[in-house]
Amino acid sequence: MKAADSIQTVKNIGEARAAQFGRMGIETVDDLISYYPRDYEDRSVTTPVCELEADNTVTIRGKIMRAPEAMRTRTLSVVSAVVSDGTGSIVCVWFNQPYIKNQLKQGVEYSFTGKVSERMGRLQLNSPDYEAVNAESLNMGRIVPVYRLPAKMSQRMIRGYIKSALDCVEDGLEEYMPKSVLKGRSLCSREFAVRNIHFPENDDAFFKARRRLVFDELLFLQLHLLELKGNVSSKKSGVKIKDFDISPILSQLGFELTNAQKRVLSEIISDLKKGCVMNRLIQGDVGSGKTALAVISAYLAVINGYQAVLMAPTDVLAGQHFKSFERLFSPLGIRCDLLTSGLKKKEKDDAYKRISSGESNIVIGTHALIQDNVKYSNPGLVITDEQHRFGVRQREKLSAKGNEPHVLVMTATPIPRTLALILYGDLDISVIDELPPGRQKIDTFAVDHSYYRRLYAFIKKEVAKGRQAYIICPMIEENDNAELRSVLSYTEELKNDIFPELNIACVHGKLKNDEKQKIMERFASGDIDVLVSTTVIEVGINVPNASLMIIENAERFGLSALHQLRGRVGRGSDKSYCVLVSDNKNKLAKERLKIMCSTNDGFVISEKDLELRGPGDFFGTRQHGLPEMKIANLYKDIDILKEVQSVAIDIYRGDRELKTIENSLLKAKIYELFTTKIKKICL
Ligand code: ADP
Ligand code: MG
Repeated sequence: MKAADSIQTVKNIGEARAAQFGRMGIETVDDLISYYPRDYEDRSVTTPVCELEADNTVTIRGKIMRAPEAMRTRTLSVVSAVVSDGTGSIVCVWFNQPYIKNQLKQGVEYSFTGKVSERMGRLQLNSPDYEAVNAESLNMGRIVPVYRLPAKMSQRMIRGYIKSALDCVEDGLEEYMPKSVLKGRSLCSREFAVRNIHFPENDDAFFKARRRLVFDELLFLQLHLLELKGNVSSKKSGVKIKDFDISPILSQLGFELTNAQKRVLSEIISDLKKGCVMNRLIQGDVGSGKTALAVISAYLAVINGYQAVLMAPTDVLAGQHFKSFERLFSPLGIRCDLLTSGLKKKEKDDAYKRISSGESNIVIGTHALIQDNVKYSNPGLVITDEQHRFGVRQREKLSAKGNEPHVLVMTATPIPRTLALILYGDLDISVIDELPPGRQKIDTFAVDHSYYRRLYAFIKKEVAKGRQAYIICPMIEENDNAELRSVLSYTEELKNDIFPELNIACVHGKLKNDEKQKIMERFASGDIDVLVSTTVIEVGINVPNASLMIIENAERFGLSALHQLRGRVGRGSDKSYCVLVSDNKNKLAKERLKIMCSTNDGFVISEKDLELRGPGDFFGTRQHGLPEMKIANLYKDIDILKEVQSVAIDIYRGDRELKTIENSLLKAKIYELFTTKIKKICL
């Protein structure tokens, strides 16, 4: 049979079984042999019966001494058999599996794996798995695979199916990896890897097999991302930046750049001087001052005669950027325009005109910037802020609006380096690892409802000092779940009952764009004391006077979201606080809040996040469009990932379209994985 054949061609798999597999997405023979174990049990070591101890899971090997006995109680059937291996004997018992009595034959030698328990002073083996000793054993006397089971199947069955598939598939174990890579990276053959990932000959074989399969999985993904990206740096840019005098914009900014900002700026400038297309990611924790670099870069583009485009994930953030850019640039005679989907038709049409005529020097907006009807006059630089909120495709689409413009992407989510390598493939990475001077640590507390009085007193005290507060709720409106705070009802309660003397307002995703904008402006100007909000303000919002962040139902938010939200305060020189309110008693939830209280370091938090949630969840297909990993663990396999990166770049540099005979099989595989199977990759 062929790898692409239906699994019904595998021995003993009929229509019903095929349907059960189908529900888990396993349809072809190839799917089946790529269905890797979730765990293994080492049954290769047998324990002499005389050495057994209660509570251990063991494998023993011995003969059935007498014909097995069956007993029935009112509720239970019990089969028992005495097994002896020459060092001693032990009773094995099985419950409610009466057929076992006829399967076990007296005088025959079997392996048994199960847990030893002690009953009335005697040891026994409970419901052990067993198999006759002889033949080629799949279930005993070896390292045994353990699979995530489809409905109505046993480990034994699935092991059998996979073995049959491995033995009969003609082309499924063919090698597609170029020889040079296999040799250069000391990888085992695919045949060896696939057989040993299921039925490892020994530990060493397993590790070799796993390394190979992880390598393959990451390499396919990496090559695919490179292909998506369309090039590997060193592409000549048509955008010529010659004038590097940034003193006017620096004096507009009004602060001295931190050393980290200066370093990143010099990296940007050296990119621009090279004459190649810049592809740079700026990674910096919340509040580290990424915007200033966007401002300076945009200025460079403009004074050299180009447009700069800045894309942000929410209209609230785009609006804020627009305001602050306008304030910095209009004194220099540089025109900024805002483009979001919320604009009125007339406003939009006017903006389109200014953008295509080049009257707009800097265009700031949301996804609206990449719509087909937006034509730019001559974009020399495109910037995406909060890149983790966009897919690779959106970033590409923005670049495609110009003639090889320079690209700057900024992210506040401190993505662990492993993930950055995958997500940002070939981008050069700059890190702002320093906060502007005078910042104080944000003190964070996790409390439950019993603290409300103190919390309200605290809000009052901060407001009396002239500060402002955010209160984040998980919902906009009340719903059936009475435990969740909602923005609308809480705002009413705060206005009417709790703080009648304060200025309270709310903002959420259902408000019209200009209403949101107005409220944010009023909050920024200090007109509002307490802003009740959903996570629409999660990213990017910058109101340095706000010093208190209260997050209701904090257990509902992921660590990264909590960190982002907390990053809305502590942006000035005042001491700031974050209060996480939760009545949830769940252990994991508590642990997460504890992490928040113990550190302000976004890198630490994101690593913990990854640990607690697993990489699949961390990526969230919604956000990044990356496929779920079958075997690679992006958190643990960083070393393999590094190798893969360099191999991928080499392959790509040498043969961009994977046209050579050597690479053609790889290409087919990538096509199969990403085009036919995962159509939705990358949004
Ligand atoms: P983020 O990296 O989260 O996007 P911002 O760029 O919004 O951070 O900057 C946060 C705050 O720090 C802003 O109020 C900004 O004006 C201020 N800031 C940035 N760089 C400096 C600096 N070098 N010195 C003083 N304040 C700075
Ligand atoms: Mg920002």
